[in-house]
Amino acid sequence: MAVSPGMPGRRVIVYGLGGTIAMTAAGSDGVAPTLSTAQLVASVPGLAATGIGVEVEDFRRLPGASLTFDDITALAQSVHELTTADPGIDGVVVVQGTDTIEETAYLLDLLHPEACPVVVTGAMRPPQLAGADGPANLLAAIAVAANPHTGDQGCLVVLADEIHAARRVRKTHTSAGATFRSPTGGPLGYLVEGQPRMVNRLTHRTVLPRPAAGSPPPRVALVTIVLGDDGLLLEHLPGHLDGLVVAAFGVGHVPAALVPLLDTLARRIPVVLASRTGAGSVAAATYGFPGSERDLLGRGLISAGFLDPLKARILLHTLLTAGSDRPTMTAAFGVAGGYTDPARWPWPRPGRTDSQPRSPGCVATN
Ligand code: ASP
Repeated sequence: MAVSPGMPGRRVIVYGLGGTIAMTAAGSDGVAPTLSTAQLVASVPGLAATGIGVEVEDFRRLPGASLTFDDITALAQSVHELTTADPGIDGVVVVQGTDTIEETAYLLDLLHPEACPVVVTGAMRPPQLAGADGPANLLAAIAVAANPHTGDQGCLVVLADEIHAARRVRKTHTSAGATFRSPTGGPLGYLVEGQPRMVNRLTHRTVLPRPAAGSPPPRVALVTIVLGDDGLLLEHLPGHLDGLVVAAFGVGHVPAALVPLLDTLARRIPVVLASRTGAGSVAAATYGFPGSERDLLGRGLISAGFLDPLKARILLHTLLTAGSDRPTMTAAFGVAGGYTDPARWPWPRPGRTDSQPRSPGCVATN
């Protein structure tokens, strides 16, 4: 796809964290991350013609599966420091393994208060395969990060010429190039002839304080409820966890036999009720049987609303790290889950969310 030049003077920082996009064959044992961020950027055809100035940070060189909360928190801190020290930076790109993008991007979204976009990308096919998608995805991500109309939307995920909100995007296929989807709400935009075109905008941001380095990590489990579930996993959890997300059936249902276990857990730790279906919201007031959403929410479980179980776990982990109490968690899930007024978000909200072009650079907005 042709890229029309037109961003001279814009500046983007690319952080490399590894992933398939940076993998080459390490002997006969399959591919592993070896390429530097500078090598990745150098492999992108057409980048020079855009006029965008690109600087690189080699941050990690890992498969997506081995990234941690600490890695992403340190990344958020580094983005904050670099962009506030140098207000001439227009946007940030993060290159990483696609396996964990739906989680890391949402964590970055929660920890990034500035107006400039943080755009996460990767590749489904390593560089040596025919049809490798890394260079196209990286070029698209840089174009989105440099564009003056993509700000105030927090963290974005760009692959296969689609622009997704971090809070909505899911990896939906093991190997397809167009694996990233936003089943609730759709993409925020598309790349058309190499240029970002936004067709939707988020109405509000949900940003938490960045945790202090060395904050003790909470232990937050995600348990998927299954047909005939006898509660084996839930039975062994008390005493081991700081928080739990339950990926329940449909609009938020579990077998009646699990209700006493969840009731006990919810008295001790925050237990979040999400849906395992992959799209749509948990309900609040429809069903009345034992194990229904009404029953569970009445026992103190917190609704995840539209957040899928993986995102709900990221939010709960971040709230626990911030030392939030139960009312604060409930308020945060109400807003992030899309079922209460955004004005009830417990922390100051960054910036405006209108469609005006932002001023150049990463202006700190709270
Ligand atoms: N398949 C993954 C990727 O797309 C591997 C990883 O996440 O590191 O990058």
